Amino acid sequence: MSDPGDLRPNEQAVELGPAFDATLRFIGTIRTPWRDRRDCPRQGRLDGPECQLVLDPVWHDGLKGLEYYDTIEVLYWLDKSRRDLVRQSPKSDGQTFGTFALRSPVRPNPIGTSIVKLIRIEKGTLIVRGLDCLDGTPLVDIKPDRCAFSPKAPPKNEDFIKPVKEPASRP
Ligand code: SAM
Repeated sequence: MSDPGDLRPNEQAVELGPAFDATLRFIGTIRTPWRDRRDCPRQGRLDGPECQLVLDPVWHDGLKGLEYYDTIEVLYWLDKSRRDLVRQSPKSDGQTFGTFALRSPVRPNPIGTSIVKLIRIEKGTLIVRGLDCLDGTPLVDIKPDRCAFSPKAPPKNEDFIKPVKEPASRP
């Protein structure tokens, strides 16, 4: 949904003030089989089609160590979304939900996140399964899956410390 006049029954848009500038830096582009939003899955699946995270060359060194993870978290910018809906009707049936109670792409800051399966890394391109976005969607960030990750920095006072079993080869 991208046209400001395109509201479903009982949906509510808000008047947006001037935007703060958070100066996002896209780190690359996502290549997927989907050119039309109607063809994208609503949520990616780990057995979905192979997609590519194509990193800008300046960020290639940032992948060091990521190859040890089977699953990674991908953040992306759902750039074709409208951003002014506070209530939405996903089924177009008049029943509405608050934007923050949904994982809809329509949100004030249209950030999408997916846990994806890392198939392989070819230079600065990651081959993954589990995405649900359009071909050409801007890539915001990549992180190890939090369930598999243990902090590399020393723990702080409030950290809950538990032993984590890690593969011997993980740095
Ligand atoms: N997995 C992410 C999440 O939970 O944050 C995104 C879920 S969102 C429901 C996925 C939907 O966003 C797709 O089915 C498609 O309709 C829409 N979409 C995909 N790429 C988009 C883009 N670049 N701009 C706007 N909408 C997009």
